[in-house]
Amino acid sequence: MSSLLQKITNFFSYDIGIDLGTANTLVFIKNQGVVMREPSVVAVKGDKVLAVGDDAKRMLGRTPGSVTAIRPLKNGVIADFYNTEEMLRYFIKKAATRRSLLGPRVLIAIPSGITEVERRAVIESAEAAGARKVHLIEEPMAAAIGVGLPVQEASGNMIVDIGGGTTEVALISLSGIVYSRSVRCAGDDLDDSIISYLKRSYNLMIGERTAEDIKIRIGSAYPLTKELSMDVKGRDLVAGLPKTITISSEEVREALSEQLNTIINAVRTTLERCPPELAADLVDKGIVVAGGGALLRGLDQLFHEQTGLPIHIADDPLSAVAEGTGKALQELDFFANVTETQ
Ligand code: ADP
Ligand code: MG
Repeated sequence: MSSLLQKITNFFSYDIGIDLGTANTLVFIKNQGVVMREPSVVAVKGDKVLAVGDDAKRMLGRTPGSVTAIRPLKNGVIADFYNTEEMLRYFIKKAATRRSLLGPRVLIAIPSGITEVERRAVIESAEAAGARKVHLIEEPMAAAIGVGLPVQEASGNMIVDIGGGTTEVALISLSGIVYSRSVRCAGDDLDDSIISYLKRSYNLMIGERTAEDIKIRIGSAYPLTKELSMDVKGRDLVAGLPKTITISSEEVREALSEQLNTIINAVRTTLERCPPELAADLVDKGIVVAGGGALLRGLDQLFHEQTGLPIHIADDPLSAVAEGTGKALQELDFFANVTETQ
């Protein structure tokens, strides 16, 4: 394409980056930053979509029998193609605030573990939703770029992204993923372990949203200088009636420990597979942790204790991937320009 034609195309189109997360979807518009941040939830009745994002999440667990709130990417795989497409359509349409003649060019960050069929489904969904051109980027790479790691250098960079459904651990050097591992153990599993703990210890049944609330308010991975506690309301499994109990942060930590071990093991395995030169780089540079799970109290201390490496929690763990797609969009331009002038 000639440079002038490219400029005209750019004038009529625009670029957006999408972090298609298992828990949250973020949309980044070039030159504007993150413009949307909503849960990856679709509310359906039969095969009719009632709501997507914030509106749909409000329905989770509170829906009348005929309405179901679905998280189409819950386990990091696209279990539900149809609703993934509905969701992408919603985000792309909503982000397209200004009318442009051409659809947007879209860069989508996808979990590294997804299959070829799923990749194609994402591309086709985005095209069906109005994208002019679709590019994909692996989520750990986007996260690493987003937090500002020097991914292009010939040195080891390690990123751990703890999301809702999956934890991605990746070792990056020379703009490539040297080794990556995706485990289906992340924020949702921490919530589930709190649900099981309360059932086991107090015969108390709580919902997913309450469990997440407990995790965020008093959850921790490492002993706190000042331990916390909170009241929790749920349903007594024996009497069948609503009841309230008080739970401490020590108890929540105990409930979370097994799942946290699974996450730590994924990190350790990656370190074991790390070529010696890159491992040497990590001694100084350490590990960067992103994703909502990075916000758990004391996670850095636990990781440091278990790996002996310096641990850096990303400044804004929930936005790292979306920011990375934004930066990568600039690169797309760069490469487009390079090919253009050949
Ligand atoms: P995904 O990329 O899979 O969509 P996110 O990176 O958006 O996931 O992270 C979502 C997860 O982060 C959820 O499990 C949520 O409960 C968890 N999370 C968000 N804030 C906190 C917090 N302050 N402490 C612990 N976990 C948190
Ligand atoms: Mg994510």
